[in-house]
Amino acid sequence: MPSQYILVKDVVPLNRERVIRIRCVRVYEIPERRGAKQMKSRELVVCDEEGTFIHVNMQNSDVDKYKNVFKKGKLYSLKNFLVFSQYYMYRTCDHRYMIRLNYNTQVKAIKSRGFPTNMFQLKPYQCLKDPTLVNDKVMFDVIGRVIEIHAPLDKIIGGKPAKLIDFKIADNEGNQLKCTVWDNHVASMLPFYNSDLKEPVVVVIQLCRAKIVNTSSYDATKLYLNASYQEVEDFKAKITTVHSPLRSITTSAVMSQSTGISEFKSGSLTVTSVGDLLKSKQDGDFYVPAQIVGIEGSFGWMYLSCMTSGCNRKLKPDGEDLICSNCDKKFKEGMARFRVIVRVMDKGLSDAPFLLWDRECSELVGIPASLLYKKYNKIFPKSWNHLLDCQ
Ligand SMILES: [Zn+2]
Repeated sequence: MPSQYILVKDVVPLNRERVIRIRCVRVYEIPERRGAKQMKSRELVVCDEEGTFIHVNMQNSDVDKYKNVFKKGKLYSLKNFLVFSQYYMYRTCDHRYMIRLNYNTQVKAIKSRGFPTNMFQLKPYQCLKDPTLVNDKVMFDVIGRVIEIHAPLDKIIGGKPAKLIDFKIADNEGNQLKCTVWDNHVASMLPFYNSDLKEPVVVVIQLCRAKIVNTSSYDATKLYLNASYQEVEDFKAKITTVHSPLRSITTSAVMSQSTGISEFKSGSLTVTSVGDLLKSKQDGDFYVPAQIVGIEGSFGWMYLSCMTSGCNRKLKPDGEDLICSNCDKKFKEGMARFRVIVRVMDKGLSDAPFLLWDRECSELVGIPASLLYKKYNKIFPKSWNHLLDCQ
């Protein structure tokens, strides 16, 4: 029997019964809006025993469900999860795919002696000096000795007040980097400003990116100052004095959501592949031969619709009642209808999120949504795996 474990480099959308063993190297949350308490998503960067990194995302109810589960530095096994192409504008690693946990995912804290403690995706400064090697869409980590700190500055960025601090770091090969960190990271640098330290200050900047433009929130970035990691010890052991030209980088991490292709407008009908559809700039109706490779549970599976025949609009809560904004009528109950987001993949291995509405989904499931709603209420029906592989 083949091992149920696979390596992170082999994670692809179709490989379903997979289990990966990973170390969690970064946990952070994306708020609904800047400064909001409500979290839109929880994000992880994880690394396997071979040192391959991949991004993990949790949405909606899963944000709370895994609130106290994932801890930085700990080991986990993950089983049954969604895999699809990375779609964030700024990536936390260069893996082609990312992972999303869904209703079917099993997470276990594990102990594995000898599992390497790779915590960082350290980039040599040399790579950052060659513009052909710099991908400003992929974030990375750098380590260095702080050799210069500037006074913190207050600026107005996009109409909002922001704080920043500039400093310079050096590696052990005589290279230097100018860094800028923003807002809450300023506080971690401040104690070293104007301080009389004799000991070297070694900083790891996790998830920063080479500077091109800067308009962002900084949820992913983290600073580690003189932290007790193997990478820091190794660096300290090699410290010498250094001089060399510099180049600027800045920390930032924007998690921008693309809309995917959930909306079709009317036009001519065309048969196309997922890959070509993603490249297409034109609106229209398309037939896409593709296979369902995963179901997104985090966005629910149904909605309650208006009871007026032919309306089908979603009812919104209105006190004790439900209201249809289209018919302007109030109802005590609504009609359950399917609304399910699935991941599909075409023969060329391109994948995309598709939205299945009531008619298509009841054909595939074989039961009307109202019956399922009686049985499960809003809970995701766990027995839905027969949807998988539908074409
Ligand atoms: Zn209505």
